[in-house]
Amino acid sequence: MHKNFKNIEKVVYGRGSFDTMGSILAEKRGGGFFVFLVDNYFKDSELIGRIPASNEDVMRFIDVDPNEPTTEQIDHLRDDILASRGLPSGVVGIGGGSIMDIAKAVSLMFTNEGSSTLYQGLNLVKKPGIYHLGVPTISGTGAEVSMTAVLTGPEKKLGLKCDWTVFNQVILDPELIASVPRDKWFYTGMDTYIHCVESENGALNNAFSHAYAEQAMKLCREVYLGDDAGQTPENDDKLMVASLMGGLSLTYSEVGVCHALSYGLSKILDEKHCYANCLAFQHLEDYYPEGVREFQTMLEKHSIELPQGLSKNWSKETITAMAKVAYNLPHMWRHAVGEDWQEKVTLEDIEALFRRM
Ligand code: NAD
Ligand code: ZN
Repeated sequence: MHKNFKNIEKVVYGRGSFDTMGSILAEKRGGGFFVFLVDNYFKDSELIGRIPASNEDVMRFIDVDPNEPTTEQIDHLRDDILASRGLPSGVVGIGGGSIMDIAKAVSLMFTNEGSSTLYQGLNLVKKPGIYHLGVPTISGTGAEVSMTAVLTGPEKKLGLKCDWTVFNQVILDPELIASVPRDKWFYTGMDTYIHCVESENGALNNAFSHAYAEQAMKLCREVYLGDDAGQTPENDDKLMVASLMGGLSLTYSEVGVCHALSYGLSKILDEKHCYANCLAFQHLEDYYPEGVREFQTMLEKHSIELPQGLSKNWSKETITAMAKVAYNLPHMWRHAVGEDWQEKVTLEDIEALFRRM
C-alpha cells in the first residue's frame, strides 16, 4: 500500500543552466565516452555548439515524429553502440518526453542482456543501468522525473519501470522550451494539468500528492489563464516546474479516466500521448466537471480547436478495441471510481465515452 519511490538524484534549475553540463559530466567521464541522444529538431541549432561533447563521444539525432519510442529502436541503438564502441560512461538525453524515455531505456539496456521487450513491466530490470542525464526541452509529461520509460513493443505498450529508470541528473533550463510551437506547448502542458486533476480526484490522493498537484495547478493556471498567459520567459520558468511537480503528484497518487482512454487512443489509433489526453479530457465532464470546464477556458484562450465527431469514422470494432485497452487498466479506474469500479463502469460505458469524441 505505501509507495516507496526514488526521486531524481540531482537537479539543476534555471535559465542558462544547460551550460553546467560540462562540469557535471567531467566528474562522470572516468576516461570513457558519452552518448548524446538529441531531438532532431535541434540538429542545426546553436544548442549543439553548447553540448560539451569531446571527439570520442557519440552524438545521435533522433526523429521523434510521428511514432513514440519502440523496443526495437532501443535494442538497435544499444547493440550498435556496444558493437562499435563498447560500454559508455553515460547517456545524455536532450529533448521531449520521447527522448527522455529513450535515454532512460537505453541506459538500462546497456547493462541488461537481451531485448528490451523482456523488461516491459514493473521491476523486471535486473541490474542498474549506466549514468543517465536528462535535459527536457518541452514541458508537461513529467517524463523527466518518472520511474518509467514508456516503450511500444510488438505485443504491448508498457514502460520499463523500476527505481533504476529514474535519471541520475536532470538539467531544467527554461530557455530551452521557448521554441516549442504553440499547439505542442498547449497539448504537452495540458498533460501536466490533467495529471493534477486526475491525481487529485481519486482514492489515492493524499497530503503528499496534493501538495505537488496544488502547486502545479496554480502554475498551470498562471501559464494558461493568467493576465500574462502564453509563452513568455516567466511562464516557461513556471511550466517547467509544473511539469516536474505534476509528475511527482501522480507518482504518489495515480492517473485516472482520461489516461485510461488516452492509452486506448494511442494503442489502437497511434495518437500521441498528450494530444490523445486532450481529445479524451474535453468529454469527461461527468468525472471531472471543474477540470473540464477550466480546460475548455484554456482551449478558448489560446484558440486551440480540438476535432469533434471523430468517432463517426471509427468502426464498432475500433471502439470496442479501444474500450478494452482502457478497461484493462484497473489501477486507474480503482483510483478514479473506487474499489467497486467494475460495478459502476462497464465496457459499454467506456465505449460510450469514446463515442462522445
Ligand atoms: P515529444 O518528445 O514527443 O516531442 C513532441 C514534439 O515537440 C516533437 O516534434 C519534438 O521534435 C518537438 N520539440 C521538442 N522540444 C522542442 C523545442 N524546444 N522546440 C521545438 N520543438 C520541440 O514530446 P512530449 O509530448 O514531451 O512527449 C511525448 C512522449 O512522452 C510520448 O512518447 C509518451 O509516451 C511519453 N510519456 C512518457 C511519460 C513517462 O513518465 N515516461 C509520461 C507521459 C508521456
Ligand atoms: Zn500523461
